[in-house]
Amino acid sequence: MSTNARQAAVEAIVTDKPRTPSTNGQGLQGRLPSLFGSLVFSDAVQRQRLPKSVYQTLRRTIDAGDELDPKIADSVANAMKDWAIEHNATHFTHWFQPMTGLTAQKHDSFINQTADGRAILEFSGKELIKGEPDASSFPSGGIRATFEARGYTAWDPTSPAFLRVTSHGSTLVIPTAFASWTGEALDKKTPLLRSCEAIGKQSVRLLHLLGEKAVTKVYPTTGPEQEYFLIDRRFHALRPDLVACGRTLFGARPPKGQELEDHYFGTIPERVLAFMMDLEVELWKLGIPIKTRHNEVAPSQFELAPIFEQVTVATDHNMLTMEVLKDVAGRHGMACLLAEKPFAGVNGSGKHNNWSLADNLGNNLLEPGSTPHDNLKFIVFLSAIIRAVDLHQDLVRASVATAGNDHRLGANEAPPAIVSIFVGSQLEDVLDSLIETRAPKASGGPEMRLGVNTLPPLPRDTSDRNRTSPFAFTGNKFEFRAVGASQSIAYPNIVLNTIVAESLDYFSTEIEKRGGAGDRREVIAALVRETLKKHKRILFSGDNYSTEWVAEAEKRGLLNLRDTPAALASFASPTNTAMFDAYHVFSPRECESRATVLNRMYAHRVSVEALSMRDIASTMILPAAMMCQKRVADSIQSVINVNPQADLKSQRELLAQITDAINKLRTATGEISKARHAAEETKGNDNAIAHAFRDILIPVMNRVREQADLLEQIVDDDLWPLPKYREILFVH
Ligand code: ADP
Ligand code: MG
Repeated sequence: MSTNARQAAVEAIVTDKPRTPSTNGQGLQGRLPSLFGSLVFSDAVQRQRLPKSVYQTLRRTIDAGDELDPKIADSVANAMKDWAIEHNATHFTHWFQPMTGLTAQKHDSFINQTADGRAILEFSGKELIKGEPDASSFPSGGIRATFEARGYTAWDPTSPAFLRVTSHGSTLVIPTAFASWTGEALDKKTPLLRSCEAIGKQSVRLLHLLGEKAVTKVYPTTGPEQEYFLIDRRFHALRPDLVACGRTLFGARPPKGQELEDHYFGTIPERVLAFMMDLEVELWKLGIPIKTRHNEVAPSQFELAPIFEQVTVATDHNMLTMEVLKDVAGRHGMACLLAEKPFAGVNGSGKHNNWSLADNLGNNLLEPGSTPHDNLKFIVFLSAIIRAVDLHQDLVRASVATAGNDHRLGANEAPPAIVSIFVGSQLEDVLDSLIETRAPKASGGPEMRLGVNTLPPLPRDTSDRNRTSPFAFTGNKFEFRAVGASQSIAYPNIVLNTIVAESLDYFSTEIEKRGGAGDRREVIAALVRETLKKHKRILFSGDNYSTEWVAEAEKRGLLNLRDTPAALASFASPTNTAMFDAYHVFSPRECESRATVLNRMYAHRVSVEALSMRDIASTMILPAAMMCQKRVADSIQSVINVNPQADLKSQRELLAQITDAINKLRTATGEISKARHAAEETKGNDNAIAHAFRDILIPVMNRVREQADLLEQIVDDDLWPLPKYREILFVH
């Protein structure tokens, strides 16, 4: 029997000799402290290399958010350059996060020429502070016409510069914000920074009203847990769908999937462990505090989790983590898949965005307190978050809406598209008791009057966990679980920061209005009660995967925005636009541009998938199916030649089944181009077009897949061109 490329790949993978980690784990523990952050122009390096006054000025910008003093730029740039050159860097780049959801960079060398033609290495403050990449090819959502294509990048000193090292040399990478010539943000970083300012300001204001005068700064913290698939690169290369779309568009369910639940937290295969060790060393060098690694639920699926950091730094670090994941996988002959649903029938990948607020005194504002005062503070912030999420369900949902995540949310493995909050039954009872002014069940204490001295003790470190909730309180932070694995965490955090800022603003304003001087505690307690009563509907502690919840949520009037076009419909509504504008996160034009880009990206993604599907079906699957058809027909003919009376009912049925599937596959495939064209030509705004891609194109794609997957289960194994799920997921 002949071997095709797919079978040759399997053969090669199983006969490959085992790989060991190139860092060779030995002695690593001793080197770890000096290894960590060794490629970062960190605080320690800055302190060591900058003149004292420059260092102090820079720190004030980073810590207190003071405006950057341009006078120090030359000095910082020079120190950065010397440090980078000592680490073999020849180039620098402004690194930014355009609306594509990826990162972008353009490299410049440190080379400059003297009058007599010699080369010297230079890096000026001007080059550090500002770059001018040609912005015309990045999506702007209508902000910038190509005739005014100039955009510029501006140094973000709050995120440290670092080195990207490859075998061909090193580059100094400077995190930046990206804006149009007219000053409008063209990226995800700028609004994220602005949203941190908004929530910081409103948190401090409220804390001052609560009597916490020593707090001068509050910032959001995030620890994004990252799920991913790791497969052999040879399989990846043989699947044009994985190459072009990052996920498989075809694939029959394997006989064994994840039913046996034998992968979750299982022993990590040697080859994968080697990859993980290399990966962690790379990330540690970049100062990314990776802490946890384990197998996930699906076969060949894994997870890593960092220690939390300030959200802006965590966002940069997560973008970098995704890049390094891919790089290191390549070095190990593997491909890292970050798509939300690379394989039908097994779990997809998400990114759990753990989120909280920290103050400059080292307190976590979502840590339930042990004193009545701390309790009150906790309850106030919790109530503000509950109010925010209930009022802005649409934005919370929109912040995780992508074509890829549509295959995951609500698929009985990931939170549903309905936004709700889990706080655990104990805490929920405490909140109920506040509303009803009674003692909570657990406390058994005396009848409670709602006042600060009578607040019940809060459950700490509740053992109750809920894996199905999109937004779960997990003891001292919220875990936003609906985020997609491949997406930047910028939008989810921009939305959280902004809507919570709005709620904190509301609380402060109400307290100021009602409070007067003196003891505000009764006023605050009344406000909390009123807020909880009004927004309690968003709390749900049951099974979010159940069909009962869908019905119950509808009864409660909660939104159920099932897919991206639905979720994006109100992104730039007048209410949302006004809120983003009020907190200086997005101007109205910036808000509109985000909606435009998100809708267009959805349509582009679906379109690329549809065209890949058409090509693969026409040039790979149909030919294999017809070859199989011919084999069956030849076989029938051969038997008839020998024995005209033979019973060929079964073979004829098989032939009819194959022929039928081929016909249907060809018909559906033939409709793709037409459907795509029709979707593109739809009248209306970008959201209407996104809806058309969903309604016109996706049903055709589903029909193509159905027939192709059926054929995969009939066609001779040696004829099938695409690596099968059973191979991709189980052969390493
Ligand atoms: P869990 O047991 O709830 O999964 P872990 O302690 O394992 O909690 O943390 C999971 C993730 O949450 C980690 O990435 C961690 O850094 C992050 N995390 C913990 N505390 C906070 C916090 N205060 N703010 C943001 N993220 C946090
Ligand atoms: Mg977790």
